[in-house]
Amino acid sequence: MTTYTFQRSIPVLDECYDLIVAGGGPAGAAAAICAARLGAKVLLVEGTGCLGGMGTSGLVTAFDPMANGERRLVGGLMNEIVETLYARQLLRPDIDPDAWRKSYHKWTAFQVEGYKLVLDELCVDAGVELCFFTKVVDADADVMKGIVNGVVLHNIEGFTYVKAKTFVDATGDAILSNLCGVECREAGRDTPGIMPATLASLFTGINWDQTRGRSYEIQQEMLEKALADGHFSQPDRHLPGMAKVNHTVGYLNGGHLFNLNALRCKDLTEGIIFGRKLAREYMDFYRKYVPGFENIEHVTTASLLGIRESRRIVGEYELNVHDYFARRQFPDQIGMFNKSIDIHPYNNSEEEYNRYYEEFEKMGRLGVGECFGIPYGILVPKGWRNLWVAGRCVSSDVQVHGSIRVQPAASMMGQAAGTAAVQAIKTGQAACQLNTETLIRTLRDNDAYLPQEELSYDMTRV
Ligand SMILES: Cc1cc2nc3c(=O)[nH]c(=O)nc-3n(C[C@H](O)[C@H](O)[C@H](O)COP(=O)(O)OP(=O)(O)OC[C@H]3O[C@@H](n4cnc5c(N)ncnc54)[C@H](O)[C@@H]3O)c2cc1C
Repeated sequence: MTTYTFQRSIPVLDECYDLIVAGGGPAGAAAAICAARLGAKVLLVEGTGCLGGMGTSGLVTAFDPMANGERRLVGGLMNEIVETLYARQLLRPDIDPDAWRKSYHKWTAFQVEGYKLVLDELCVDAGVELCFFTKVVDADADVMKGIVNGVVLHNIEGFTYVKAKTFVDATGDAILSNLCGVECREAGRDTPGIMPATLASLFTGINWDQTRGRSYEIQQEMLEKALADGHFSQPDRHLPGMAKVNHTVGYLNGGHLFNLNALRCKDLTEGIIFGRKLAREYMDFYRKYVPGFENIEHVTTASLLGIRESRRIVGEYELNVHDYFARRQFPDQIGMFNKSIDIHPYNNSEEEYNRYYEEFEKMGRLGVGECFGIPYGILVPKGWRNLWVAGRCVSSDVQVHGSIRVQPAASMMGQAAGTAAVQAIKTGQAACQLNTETLIRTLRDNDAYLPQEELSYDMTRV
């Protein structure tokens, strides 16, 4: 391949931020809001025009389970967001608050526009400087010292170099970390396969009453029939399904895009085109086969392709499936979680479907009252001093990634990363040598549920 040297002088912004957060999904929004509330001068850089990431631009309009059947596990900012949505009637209208406060394995559906508004407000009220329609496209970092000096942003105004004392990578794809030269693992290259993507959709005109609370069972039964009839161009037995959002609206998590490498633009382009085609096939399926869905209309597909797996950093600690099944608790845990391991079939074969079913429905679930800890070290790229990662691209093996990649966990990790960045600035501690006892105490003061009795200065590394 021939190369072209890209060299130009670009403006350097005069001011130096305390923290720059790349990406405004659940992880990045939480990092920015929580750091700003602790007094930091924060710039939040988001490529699209809204916060929420997959939850808004990706139309994934439900939060995964936040409790374990006995108590709420996810507190902090995530809980504040859900309670705010509830108070403003922006959750699914018939939802029982026990869904996020206590229940086992219950999702909390929300209205996309309401969630966008609440996140805007929380950022503005906290004093976060928001920069939409802007991407982090390069990093000025010293790999040997583990220090990031600044990032290059690109938007309608061109390129700008911006300095900060600390940085959080919440891009979902570890884009900033990769630009810095952090060691990363990639789906497909370092894993047995690539979890498929899905282009989510919103539909209206659904008569939910007709499903009488058996919507999922009916969708599955009808799917089997439609597959037998040869309805789909891609026979896919795994349909997560249409979830109720309000009286007539549903969000469809259906239509897998197999073998899509989210780190290749060609795959993303072809994938979203195929996703739109599949969404029409699912609309026809629902109209033809599923009672109560005869009159559905397709409102829109998402503007962001639903990526489940792409790139993860190698952190100071790599959370693994043994920790998960041991329900391991860590002195430096920054979150507690009990969501099942959910690795969608790598292809649409019978074997893969059975593997998924065994893993997700039978093996991969923790029971009522159970949970595992998410340790601080998975947020810190190995050896880095002023860089944290939060959300889908933190350091874990592929199985645990199948659990912690979801929105409530991303938000908890974001809150911890933003809080840690402020602590680092105030104390001069490096990310990789942070006093985690102080961090845990600050997170507890801000409503995180972290019941460990033993705390330690050093993070868990083995
Ligand atoms: C189809 C599907 C269904 C799902 N279902 C659920 C569900 O029911 N419940 C649940 O809780 N979770 C669900 N998830 C998982 C969850 O939505 C995501 O994993 C979660 O949103 C990850 O959060 P994040 O903040 O790490 O990343 P994201 O939500 O992906 O946010 C990353 C943000 O960074 C921005 N960004 C990326 N690169 C740059 C850059 N260079 N510069 C600036 N900004 C950038 C993006 O625009 C985006 O807004 C689902 C995921 C998929 C794909």
